[in-house]
Amino acid sequence: MWRIATKTFALFGVAAGVLASAAPAKADKPPCSERKGVLGVSRVVEIDTSKGARFGNMQYKDIDFLKPGEIVLTFDDGPLRPKTTSVLNALEGHCTKATFFMVGRMALVDPNMVREIDKRGHTVANHSWSHKMEGRLSTASATKEIELGISAVSLALGKPAAPFFRFPYLSDPKSMQAHLKDRGVGIFSIDIDSLDFRTRSGSVMMNRVLKGLKRQGKGIILMHDIQRSTSSGIKPLLDALAKEGYKVVHIVPKSPVTTLEKYDAIAKKEADRRKKYVASRPLASRSMVWPIASADQFPEAKPLKIVPRGLFKAPLPERSGIARPTSAKLRKSLLNDAKAEEKASAPSKTKRKKTHSASAHEAPPVDDWRKAAFSNGH
Ligand SMILES: [Zn+2]
Repeated sequence: MWRIATKTFALFGVAAGVLASAAPAKADKPPCSERKGVLGVSRVVEIDTSKGARFGNMQYKDIDFLKPGEIVLTFDDGPLRPKTTSVLNALEGHCTKATFFMVGRMALVDPNMVREIDKRGHTVANHSWSHKMEGRLSTASATKEIELGISAVSLALGKPAAPFFRFPYLSDPKSMQAHLKDRGVGIFSIDIDSLDFRTRSGSVMMNRVLKGLKRQGKGIILMHDIQRSTSSGIKPLLDALAKEGYKVVHIVPKSPVTTLEKYDAIAKKEADRRKKYVASRPLASRSMVWPIASADQFPEAKPLKIVPRGLFKAPLPERSGIARPTSAKLRKSLLNDAKAEEKASAPSKTKRKKTHSASAHEAPPVDDWRKAAFSNGH
């Protein structure tokens, strides 16, 4: 049904050296093979999804390829240049690799960024066309969301992306799970949720991940490279992960995804439409030339306030002697932690608001819809 090939590198230096070859180290830093105290990559796991595969204990208990202390770094919803760049630089500083689950429309906005991520040796994966909640769509619309997303990310990348998919909001209707299986695309849920969309603070995000890891001992970590807390907190987080001895596993596909011609044509049309629009408005800013400049602007996401039924039902299995809480309990506990953190930081927020109340130009927080829909913020 699925197959995973593990390429374990005996020496950290070899792994880091090979994987960082696409992105030479800056002149002021020694090459990865000589750097100490960095995360690097301890294992590269090649995943064959040709017959379908599901990962991530938050929802699935099919496959767990991680050993205690091992982590997979994943970033969703991008790319969004300034914040994604900060994430890329932090990863490069630690000679480590991650997987980026991209939204198709975001990818078409900035194909150079998509290629840069690939050039730096990270895995480019899929997160739908426009980040709709698939559980609320008709089969035809949900299929289009998946397939157009895959075609758009591949078009932006200039070659087929990885056959890896993460459902927006982790909303995974059975019909679409079956569709992805038929298409030979692996489904990736999560183990550790950074809940980075609920805070602007890098340290709050970091502590949440570390706490989650302490509890579970390993896992696929979810962050968003469009979020301020992640763009500022990723470097200290990687520093802490290295210090605490966590090992990064880089997931790569055995074969690239196969795109469908019908959706390739639509993606191409969308890309051409955008090019024409940009050409006709040379002075327009990026945020004005496309319906979405960031995932924050997806109008369809605004009214979402409830967790879809059945999302977090699957209990986490006991593995490796680590007592795992059930996913529902874990989720509840994470949300309670987040609420407590927000409560603790509330006075300073109020103070900041008062200080700026005179300014009529204060921009509204960009993450508002995510805060409103926090329970679904994936
Ligand atoms: Zn998402």
